[in-house]
Amino acid sequence: MFKRHATPATSPQTYTYALSEAEWREKLSPLEYQVLREAGTERPFTGEYEELEAAGTYHCRGCDAALYSSGKKFNAGCGWPAFWAEEATSEGASTLEYIEDRSLGMRRVEIRCARCGGHLGHVFTGEGFGYPTDARHCVNSASIKFVPEAEG
Ligand SMILES: [Zn+2]
Repeated sequence: MFKRHATPATSPQTYTYALSEAEWREKLSPLEYQVLREAGTERPFTGEYEELEAAGTYHCRGCDAALYSSGKKFNAGCGWPAFWAEEATSEGASTLEYIEDRSLGMRRVEIRCARCGGHLGHVFTGEGFGYPTDARHCVNSASIKFVPEAEG
């Protein structure tokens, strides 16, 4: 079901939220583990959030950091949830880490959760979707968890 395309470059010591490999395996489903900890990619059009338009926040499945909001989600037709920007931390920093990924003979930018190092997907630019950042954060549904906005 998954294609592995990048080295598991996460080094737990560098992240504020760190678990042992055994703890990660216990906390995450096999699918979530493959994506978040081994930089796997779910097949397009299979993730649960690709078409979700409900209002709310998307949290990291590894550490629960709030990474994206529904207000910056758009339908890119690419088969994965797409956002044009991430959320900021309470200190105003990015909630993500951007890492050059040269796997598969391509030059791409990998995005990871800055708190736990979990792999989220890749970010692409210059595709002309017309949103304020010109970026498409292509995120695996398996790496995020949707929290609906409280009603009322
Ligand atoms: Zn995280």
